[in-house]
Amino acid sequence: MTGRPSTDLPQGFTRFAHGSMRCTVVSDGIIKLGGARESFPNADPAEVDELLVRHYLPTDAVFMNQNVLVIDVDGTLVMFDSGVGTDPDLGVKEFGDETGLTIPNLKAAGIEPAQIDIIALTHAHPDHAWGLVDAAGRRLYPNAKVAVGRADYHYWTDLSRVADAPSEHQKDQIIGAHKNLTAYTDDLILLDGGETLAPGIRAIATPGHTPGHMVYEITSDDETMICWGDLCHHQVLLLEHPEWNFMFDYDGAAATSERIRIYDFVDSHRYAVFGYHFPFPGLGHLRRDPGGYTWLQANLPQRLPDRTR
Ligand SMILES: [Zn+2]
Repeated sequence: MTGRPSTDLPQGFTRFAHGSMRCTVVSDGIIKLGGARESFPNADPAEVDELLVRHYLPTDAVFMNQNVLVIDVDGTLVMFDSGVGTDPDLGVKEFGDETGLTIPNLKAAGIEPAQIDIIALTHAHPDHAWGLVDAAGRRLYPNAKVAVGRADYHYWTDLSRVADAPSEHQKDQIIGAHKNLTAYTDDLILLDGGETLAPGIRAIATPGHTPGHMVYEITSDDETMICWGDLCHHQVLLLEHPEWNFMFDYDGAAATSERIRIYDFVDSHRYAVFGYHFPFPGLGHLRRDPGGYTWLQANLPQRLPDRTR
């Protein structure tokens, strides 16, 4: 059916240039969530269905790509988010059977995990931060520093909140963040917003989806893109309706106001956008329309198969 991913995904990576930065996009796979009406709780259900049908997308499930960006900044490798991981002790199966592919796809792209210098998390939710350690809690990126919003670190690693968490998934959100992030205790960079992680890469605080959500402004030569994590989960629904919330928003009103602020920032500067959950590989632009924004996917050059391998 239209819009559904294949059950036999090929190796997923591609590359593009951003100014003089060499960028690789690695797929962690595709998350499958329940029906769209349930995933966007304050939306008008009929309008959700109508918009999805108009864009040839299914209404009974939401499929979200997991696009992990890796940038070579003069020899320093910076990776943005880590995918959902494969830890069977955590509820990774809730995201479907086609996730947790970051490391095999990194290797397919010729990048070893030990080469990663910095992992810049947009936030500490499972699909972004559970790919940092294996099931035994060992670091999968032995030489990496991990940058995360200070507010997210303190909120999501607070095990005292587990007992009162209302669902198994919400308990796992805390246990999983604690397991993944505390493995990097000696190599954490706690962000408040405004920090420069590497030349041309700056964190911007966008609290709302989570308490310490960050987006990253990435500039090289005269090109800038905004790597926006979960500022926006859907290339149609939340661009046309930034006032709608996603079901895991921590503070829906703040998430909406940060969305509107960053959409306007991007549009007014004609910056590019890198969307973690947008159609692979997640690079494109916004076009401002009378009622919202339209996603314009970048037209990356096709890579021909490498017949020598
Ligand atoms: Zn996410």
